[in-house]
Amino acid sequence: MYGNHGWCASCGMPNITQTGSLVLKNNGMTEPTGAWLPNWRHDSICVDPGLSEEIRSEFDLELREVEIRGQVREKLAFQIVPAISKQPWFRPEELTSVLSEAHGVAGRDCGQCQRWRWMPLDSKHLPKPNIESSSGLSLAASPEFFGDGRKSFRLLAIDPRLAELIVSRSPGDFLVRSWHHPAGE
Ligand SMILES: [Zn+2]
Repeated sequence: MYGNHGWCASCGMPNITQTGSLVLKNNGMTEPTGAWLPNWRHDSICVDPGLSEEIRSEFDLELREVEIRGQVREKLAFQIVPAISKQPWFRPEELTSVLSEAHGVAGRDCGQCQRWRWMPLDSKHLPKPNIESSSGLSLAASPEFFGDGRKSFRLLAIDPRLAELIVSRSPGDFLVRSWHHPAGE
């Protein structure tokens, strides 16, 4: 996905922007259907070929073939490639306050790559993110990384129409949360 040296071995954050295919191991999964998140990559939405075609025809998004190790057939799964926002989603002082309260520490620099990573927290407890809406893209990823140990992930923001389509194919697998306040609030 990021080439052989694309990951920090300590924290799991990618060193460069994704260039190649997401590679998954075949964990006895026969033919994946609908949409799912690989268990070690919380920020990579994968979809089956039919759903991938539907998304491609309706949304301006890049879908990239997922390489499934141990699977002979090709084109069984595609990853929706998110656009990484250039502007931060969160004000550092707000994150610091919420995460320090939850974990005792807001985040830390990785001992190996020296990059900062915020502690993970259920999105319902996070401050409301400020996401540029001008990008026009249907799937955006936070520039901020969250995680602990070797798991790192970005947060995703998804077009409600795309979310609805994905959830309709894989009900029960996704929880979509709206950060928009009801009108008048
Ligand atoms: Zn690192």
